[in-house]
Amino acid sequence: MAVYLYSGGTILDATGAAPKPGHALLVEGNRIARIGPEAAVKAYADHNHPGYVAIDARGATVMPGLIDVHVHISYGDITSAEELNIYTSAEYRTLRGAHNLKKVLRAGVTAICDPGGTWRVSTALRDAVNAGLIEGPRMVAASQYLSTYNGIGGVFPVWVEQPPSAFSVLCNSQDEMVAEVRRQVRDGVDIIKVAGDGDIHRNTDVSYGSLTPEDLQAIAGMTHRLGKRCTIHARGNRAAREACEAGFDWIIHASYITDDTIDAFVERRTPINPTLSLLANIVEWGPDLGAAAVVVEHMKRELDAVHTNLSKAYRAGVPIMAGTDSGQSSVPYGEWHARDGRDPGRDQERGVRA
Ligand SMILES: [Zn+2]
Repeated sequence: MAVYLYSGGTILDATGAAPKPGHALLVEGNRIARIGPEAAVKAYADHNHPGYVAIDARGATVMPGLIDVHVHISYGDITSAEELNIYTSAEYRTLRGAHNLKKVLRAGVTAICDPGGTWRVSTALRDAVNAGLIEGPRMVAASQYLSTYNGIGGVFPVWVEQPPSAFSVLCNSQDEMVAEVRRQVRDGVDIIKVAGDGDIHRNTDVSYGSLTPEDLQAIAGMTHRLGKRCTIHARGNRAAREACEAGFDWIIHASYITDDTIDAFVERRTPINPTLSLLANIVEWGPDLGAAAVVVEHMKRELDAVHTNLSKAYRAGVPIMAGTDSGQSSVPYGEWHARDGRDPGRDQERGVRA
């Protein structure tokens, strides 16, 4: 059993307690065996594990691994819909995903959720990490988003058939949605991802998706019946609220939620992942990354809405999950995980943009 003694650093135990300088941490195998004043932990290690490996943590903070609930490992820091949906094989994506998982892990992230992507890349990588074949964080894996023509997964014009390489699968009736949940769970996903409403690149109003409350209930019902969880892309108020009421386990974005909807979230304790890094980075660097002016403008508006609405939600007690949307070119793997999940309200009060 490998034993490691980390000393000289500041221990942050993430229980809410103040950081502890002058403390040490001892790891026996895969367990944290001791945290305490340096001399005491070292004496224990000297006595019980004379062959331990000493790690000099001077100048560093020793803390638990981070969790990022929003890393699309199959995307590959993409810059266009075509690159995402067409031009990369499953095989290349999987190898690239393994490379990128290592970056995420080395950035201090020991657990991620991949809420949707192409092929079976995410579940395959999850299994490879679990089998010890590759280095990476623990993964909760989805497969392709369930989308109607009217959600973000309705990527192409209706005269182009949806390619099997797309990040989404089109389901335009409730029967198709429920069948797709069954298929994906049979295929090994941990979580179902739904495209609840739109995005702006295709001139669709962000606030509208075409899923009905009954559709959402049918998806959540079958997902939970099969012992899995579901989440949804919902920037607008309607999709966020209806998904919350249908029992979705957590909601992604929820940027435009109103006070009534916040009450519904509080009542159900439904968490929100705002993806602050994505929004702020596109506002700041979108033009350099080739984002259209309309997209940058839209993200600016959305970031302002998030400051107002999600600060209110946070203060009202809605749990906020840190998740970067890594895998987009504006949020490259390994770079932003530790910078997401700040309290946007407090940042704003301090004059800092998210
Ligand atoms: Zn995403």
